[in-house]
Amino acid sequence: MDALADTATLSEPLAGAARNFLTAYGSPALLGDEWAKVFIGIHPEDRLDALLTACGFDGDPDGFFHSIRQGILEALAQGKSADIAFNGFRLPKMFLYHILDTLLPGQRLGAMKTTRALAAATGFPVTSQRYSPAALQAVLDTYPVRLSRHVIRQAMVSEAVAAQYLPFADELDPNGHELTFDGHFKQGLMEQMYRNRAIFLLDMRCPVYCRFCFRKHKSLRKEASPTPEDVAVAVEKVGQNPEVREILITGGEPLLNRNNLEAAITGLAGIDHVRTLRIATRSLAYYPHLFLHHDRSVINYLMEKQVFCRDRGKQIEVGVHLVHPDEISVQTLEIISKLTAGGIPVYVQTPFLKGLNDTGEVLARLFTALRQAGAEIYYIFTPCHPIHGTQKYWSPISDSIAAYNYLRSRVSDRCIPKLCTATPLGKMEWHTSGWAVEKDREDPDHIWIRTPYTRSYFEGVTGELSLPHAVRENRDGSLNVKCLIDMGDERLFLKNFGLEKDRGTYGDNEPLNEERLVRITARILESNPLMPAEEVCPGVRQLHATRIETGPELTAEALMFLSAHPEITDIVVHLPDAGDLNLQISQIRDLVRQLDGFDHRAFAVRIRWQAFMARPQDFDGELIANIRGAADVSLTRPRLLEVETWWMAPGQVLPAHRKAARALTAAGIRVYGNLPLISGVNDTPEMVADTAHALRHAGIEFHHVYAAGLSLQNERNTACPIPADRVLAIASHVRKVCSGREIPLYVIWTPKGEKDFGLGTSGPVAGLSKIPGFTC
Ligand code: SF4
Repeated sequence: MDALADTATLSEPLAGAARNFLTAYGSPALLGDEWAKVFIGIHPEDRLDALLTACGFDGDPDGFFHSIRQGILEALAQGKSADIAFNGFRLPKMFLYHILDTLLPGQRLGAMKTTRALAAATGFPVTSQRYSPAALQAVLDTYPVRLSRHVIRQAMVSEAVAAQYLPFADELDPNGHELTFDGHFKQGLMEQMYRNRAIFLLDMRCPVYCRFCFRKHKSLRKEASPTPEDVAVAVEKVGQNPEVREILITGGEPLLNRNNLEAAITGLAGIDHVRTLRIATRSLAYYPHLFLHHDRSVINYLMEKQVFCRDRGKQIEVGVHLVHPDEISVQTLEIISKLTAGGIPVYVQTPFLKGLNDTGEVLARLFTALRQAGAEIYYIFTPCHPIHGTQKYWSPISDSIAAYNYLRSRVSDRCIPKLCTATPLGKMEWHTSGWAVEKDREDPDHIWIRTPYTRSYFEGVTGELSLPHAVRENRDGSLNVKCLIDMGDERLFLKNFGLEKDRGTYGDNEPLNEERLVRITARILESNPLMPAEEVCPGVRQLHATRIETGPELTAEALMFLSAHPEITDIVVHLPDAGDLNLQISQIRDLVRQLDGFDHRAFAVRIRWQAFMARPQDFDGELIANIRGAADVSLTRPRLLEVETWWMAPGQVLPAHRKAARALTAAGIRVYGNLPLISGVNDTPEMVADTAHALRHAGIEFHHVYAAGLSLQNERNTACPIPADRVLAIASHVRKVCSGREIPLYVIWTPKGEKDFGLGTSGPVAGLSKIPGFTC
């Protein structure tokens, strides 16, 4: 193995690294409560001494570091990652990564073409009881291996990291598809499966190759990189297609090819109908050096390009892909925090991988840590693409639904992703825009999924596209497609739920009622749209296990309540539309200061700010600077500010809202929007889709569609209920005509928090008929 340095020669650097790390990052927000207890009342610079004492190495740093190194070497000799614990205290991974930076320094990237090179670089033996070096060599010959020093260090102390990047003999297993989507919908470096967006594959290389990657096949890895001239051809094609509003710039790792990236951003920013450029990267997790070297030149480059795009009415977003909390290093969090504070939204997508992150508990830790740094949690992708050599990662859909339901009950609603699957026709979200129909009769490994897509939709994508053979058309024109997926629970097959019923055209039953729209909007502005929950202590109402609502000043009882409930991460403050907004934000700043004086875990203050809807023109430079000044984006004790808004119709999102929301995003403050469905007012697929477009254009994240349960819904919808299949029709239309980034979560409000439409624990639509305003 490349030398894991002898600790005897590094006493001072190791002690210095450990002391610096614990001084800067030794907070409960980063290391967890177990260590926070060890550090209570200890001066930050003395935390290393406290840690040594807790671990049984009082005054003996050399013995401590030597034992860490020994533990790692012994585990590696057995082909395992080390789990280092002393005296019952498990050392945090982030701390160990920092120590390993000194024991195995460097940022080298490398391809490992032989088992010998792999063993030398990683320290993991290449033989095991299960396979021989020859079998492993066959894997390396078929699916290339590349690793970063960062990943090698992490893999030494984390099984969850090792299992993502180290090759294994079962990769030669022939089950699954050879190439999932390649060739489909692809011309040159551009892929287009959806009318409104396209993918640019700027470079097929990645710094590190994930073993579950759906582009893992050697033929793809060997593809020649496109040139800036190829990029120009793709840009021209986008320019000729006014339906395309978003481009996903990906690869491989697009940030590895600066010339192509520059050509893409400059070219696309000049096209009127393009609104958003999404740059997909995983380097932030497995090769953060790419962002941080040369004095953070990549971060600075992205910031510059964001200003360039903003001046042209566009927005850059960065999409990141993380799987497990062990992947999170302080570098990863620092990059997310810098990008979001600098006005570049960062969103997270996560493949659901068996044995790695297939429990709600692991996902809850992952998403909470990333949100705390400022990231938006976007989607869980389930199952991972069923291609050759990935079977060990496949899991049934029932497992992802169980994990999802755990998340809903344990983490903030702002930490909940969409649960989606990529079918051969495109993505769909479970039990809203798609569902499992039945098992295939001849081919029991395959199931039929009802998608929101139609033949005419695809004709609009390529004109001449022939669809995969395994497609069936429903009465409403939507297509069912055959997929290699295990549902894991027979109860999840819904047949053609609701599609046979003829409910007429939405909106025909009763014309949309303008007067009612104005009246309900006024009510939203006048009052608190969420049904008031019981007070849990004076001035505090609990909206969910993780979320309370208070006034702009925290009472002593509220602070005590927070301290006693570490599960609470979010504080919602309802502010009226009248009054001096700078005064209102100074109250929020005082509230944040109050939080600083207490021991608790709340890190997000969400301002339900009626003035944003009623007086967007008042959100001027001074107010936005004050809002930014009230937030704290430090990694160790973050206080995120978000602005919550409510909408009824697309026409309510005015240019002044766009201006205010974009200015807030540029200042690192997220604005999100909710929409209550009201029967005969806005419960049509078109209304909701148009609202999604309007919010996206304004830079407002579409958070929730409340399908039922709010007090303002109950009166109207009880008399004139919304059928459950109308929600499915709305969700299907939104998925079909909107970008994935425009899609909300469909929820039902209950006094204990939101419940997901369709993803209840006892069956997809169980219990909905008991909810006022709904019929099934
Ligand atoms: S970063 Fe993405 S494209 Fe690259 S190997 Fe991993 S999953 Fe595949």
